[in-house]
Amino acid sequence: MEYNKYLASILDNTYCPFCSLSKNDIVEERKYFYVILARAPYCEDHLLIIPKRHIILLKEMRWREKREVQKILQERTERLETQHEGVSVLLRNGYRNGKIWKSVDHLHIHLIPDLPIGSENWDGRIFLSNAEYHKQTKYLKKQYL
Ligand SMILES: [Zn+2]
Repeated sequence: MEYNKYLASILDNTYCPFCSLSKNDIVEERKYFYVILARAPYCEDHLLIIPKRHIILLKEMRWREKREVQKILQERTERLETQHEGVSVLLRNGYRNGKIWKSVDHLHIHLIPDLPIGSENWDGRIFLSNAEYHKQTKYLKKQYL
């Protein structure tokens, strides 16, 4: 399924996919954040760091959350670098359907390994089926990337 069609099918003003994660979606759970695999990845091992609280802007993040997210960023980037040459970090701060084309209001941080910024892979993302998504999440948990 194409990512944009998926988004159109699930998003309205009341539903938030990041507030509705199931246990099978989660690669790692911390006190204030989840780490998940991107549902519509740009590339292999594309991860997302999601605050447990539904916040939209970085300025809403509490200090204790900022401390934890800094640790997660450091650890996850280092782990990804064991398998990949480099990792881009993209913090999605802003509102859905605005100028930055953020697709989900809930603040999230992308960890994107080995993909040049602005490459053609940024368009036409494919939405993974539930089966494929959970298979890859299970695999990542074992690998602990
Ligand atoms: Zn949310």
